Amino acid sequence: MNTCGTTTSGDDAARTRVPAGSAFAKAGRRMHILVAEDNKINQMLITTYLRKFGHSFEVADDGAGALAAAAKGGFHLVLMDIQMPEMDGLEATAKIRALEGPARAVPIVALTANAMDGDEERYLAAGMDGYLAKPIVAASLFAAIDRFAGGSAEETAVSG
Ligand code: MN
Repeated sequence: MNTCGTTTSGDDAARTRVPAGSAFAKAGRRMHILVAEDNKINQMLITTYLRKFGHSFEVADDGAGALAAAAKGGFHLVLMDIQMPEMDGLEATAKIRALEGPARAVPIVALTANAMDGDEERYLAAGMDGYLAKPIVAASLFAAIDRFAGGSAEETAVSG
């Protein structure tokens, strides 16, 4: 059994055990993930986990940035904060889904605190594929990547 987690530092990311195995190993390749999140601490936390999992990533600070990055294509998954300035995650998702070409089909997972009854339906209706509750923990992030990053329509268009 292989465990990716380490206990070499005292931060939350290091304390949280990473599940055995790895998403990219299971899928046969590393994934390129767009992190759309306006909160710097959450950005740091999520990207720390992604590094541990062995994935590459790009960070967008708001919905407009997320849309611009997603439109370029090349992502296996988008982690989309719901509450962002200027353009929120729901609007950014709707605009990504309205793009021309394969970039529109990238799996999108909402990141949200205080998810309430009906919110998941709202996210799905906006074109999202699921959601992760904040605070983000390694195991649930790992599971979401494993679950949602396998079926991207762009898979064949992404090299390396
Ligand atoms: Mn936010």
